[in-house]
Amino acid sequence: MAPVELGIPGVRSTPDVSTRPDLPGLIDTYGRVATDLRVSLTDRCNLRCTYCMPAEGLEWLPGQDLLTGAELIRLIRVAVDRLGVRELRFTGGEPLLRKDLAQILAASAELRPRPRMSLTTNAVSLARKARGLALAGLDRINVSLDTLRPDRFAAITRRDRLDDVFAGLAAAHEAGLTPVKVNTVLMRGVNEDEAPDLLQFCLDHGYQLRFIEQMPLDAQHEWDRAKMITAEEILDRLSARFTLTPEPVARGAAPAERWLVDGGPATVGVIASVTRPFCAACDRTRLTADGALRTCLFATTETDLRGPLRAGASDEELAQLWRAAMWGKAKGHGINDDGFAQPDRPMSAIGG
Ligand code: SAM
Ligand code: SF4
Repeated sequence: MAPVELGIPGVRSTPDVSTRPDLPGLIDTYGRVATDLRVSLTDRCNLRCTYCMPAEGLEWLPGQDLLTGAELIRLIRVAVDRLGVRELRFTGGEPLLRKDLAQILAASAELRPRPRMSLTTNAVSLARKARGLALAGLDRINVSLDTLRPDRFAAITRRDRLDDVFAGLAAAHEAGLTPVKVNTVLMRGVNEDEAPDLLQFCLDHGYQLRFIEQMPLDAQHEWDRAKMITAEEILDRLSARFTLTPEPVARGAAPAERWLVDGGPATVGVIASVTRPFCAACDRTRLTADGALRTCLFATTETDLRGPLRAGASDEELAQLWRAAMWGKAKGHGINDDGFAQPDRPMSAIGG
């Protein structure tokens, strides 16, 4: 499929949907096919991570704007039945705040082919929920943890809940939500010295650690490239204590590049969205908690699905809106381009 591009780097016309081949899946003009749906269940959160939102929180979406459980399940069904989505990741905001999470998971698990389902969470309330989520059909979990030190945890998240996160991790492991993955964002002068300790902690507990480069998606728009800890720095810090060798398997659409630790089988991953973008292999499509379809974390436009859904659109009409939006997916996120503009929605309202 030939890309439709203008001569100016990073700028292209919106592709004409009439040029789209009549195929059921979520194809775009760069030959990518989206089979992985990230669903944001809420924009609210019980932590206030400094790299994500301000201390006072954000103006949350009003209740009537949020998709109901039934609306969410309908859109997920359209994605699986008609659009070829095979992987669901539930996120937010903090997805564990959503009271009907288990029902949403159980209904998604009924779909055929049954999608693989994972959840990204801060784990604050996971200890008491992990078993029920596993029973409802959740397959895997990603827990965000940036430090092992209570004082630093309180400074980064502005809440004193580190012990709850440790308990949540243990409960997820116990409930079989494996491999339990840990996501870490390192920040200069804050926690970057903890990279080897975090890896040792994960090795000791059987968790898979992935470092994520900090991205310009904070609500405060304070991201500063100079403060970001790059993949290269992360690997240097880890190499001071561990021997890392590139994992000898194809990465595919996985965002993390992985290394064997001390010969393996344990691995560590780095998601280098900023310094080593992986947009060319992207297989994602995103749905926000208020029913906006996004082709990318960094997209500056969205397609409203909630309006048509509430106005009585059929499943096929919703599927067509989704296909048309994805046909217009941009080549890359553009973080490193001149004139890059951060999207209006912060990470917590898109779904990370
Ligand atoms: N509240 C849940 C959590 O923290 O896991 C799910 C939503 S959170 C937005 C998803 C992931 O995005 C977390 O791993 C978090 O560390 C990461 N994240 C948030 N803001 C980020 C940023 N500016 N750059 C990189 N990662 C970020
Ligand atoms: Fe909440 Fe996750 Fe954002 Fe932290 S990163 S404030 S836990 S949404």
